[in-house]
Amino acid sequence: RVKERGRGNFRFYQPQMNVDLLSRMKLDHAMRRAMESGLYRLHYQPQVALDDGRLLGAEALVRWTDPELGNVSPGTFIPLAEESGFIIAIGSWVMQEAVRQAAKWQRAGRPLVVSVNVSALQFQQPDFVERVATCIADAELNPALLELELTESILVQDANEALTRLHALAGLGVSLAIDDFGTGYSSLAYLKKFPISKLKIDRTFVMGLPEDESDRAIVGATVAMARALKLSVVAEGVETEAQRDYLSALQCASFQGFLCSPGLPVAEFEALAVRLTPPPRPGALGF
Ligand code: C2E
Ligand code: MG
Ligand code: MG
Ligand code: MG
Repeated sequence: RVKERGRGNFRFYQPQMNVDLLSRMKLDHAMRRAMESGLYRLHYQPQVALDDGRLLGAEALVRWTDPELGNVSPGTFIPLAEESGFIIAIGSWVMQEAVRQAAKWQRAGRPLVVSVNVSALQFQQPDFVERVATCIADAELNPALLELELTESILVQDANEALTRLHALAGLGVSLAIDDFGTGYSSLAYLKKFPISKLKIDRTFVMGLPEDESDRAIVGATVAMARALKLSVVAEGVETEAQRDYLSALQCASFQGFLCSPGLPVAEFEALAVRLTPPPRPGALGF
């Protein structure tokens, strides 16, 4: 009887857990298979100046189209990869690919700052700085053309170790941005200790502009603080003219968002980049 009840309980709880665990295991397996099959791609999303829309840089965003699963959103697989540790493999592929692409644009005479998202686990790898240095050296990329997007979670974990590592990265000549600024749990004190050059205002704060009073306060304060600290600032997730106009009035320097473009495959990004880059002024090239 006890056994029966035990089995009953087992059956009552297990199916849901099974489905969950099974789909996570399947996704994890598929993620690894996708790497072996070379199914990951990078898309590039422009970052543009608010005043005249000129191109300032591009964020590399990983994309995975699976023959069985279709398009799998990074919002789904990146958190899972962070849990399983596979983010290390994805992250190093992304770094290598983005640096290679940035070097291609550099060689083509169209240098552009490329931003790469870095996960906490990836950043904590003892050889992370060395890997970045090797990527840059192998591709012969001007390190000023690489920007790393870090989240606040990276900065709270082991502040001393993080500080050492950030200085080593800055020493390579790459620049550092805080991604999803305002959504983490870190203190503002790191802004004066760490060699950061840019804040990216999270989309969740931009979303409510210009109507939402709290969003106006948060975005306004962030832009003002960035200016006072001499940091550059990018508003993420700008979708409407009204949001852009509001940010423009705040003198926020740049934005990234669907209003300009979503992330695009290389060829499409290049076509757009030509339109976003003002032609050199007559005489500027000496002829
Ligand atoms: P994130 O780094 O904050 O990237 C911005 C996300 O917002 C991207 O979603 C982008 O497509 C989306 N986005 C940009 N503009 C707009 C807009 O106007 N409206 C809306 N609704 N969304 C906009 P995506 O590509 O799905 O990436 C989601 C997150 O996944 C990223 O957030 C980042 O945390 C992570 N991720 C993406 N690629 C990588 C990568 O290569 N490495 C790591 N570690 N994480 C990545
Ligand atoms: Mg990012
Ligand atoms: Mg972001
Ligand atoms: Mg974000």
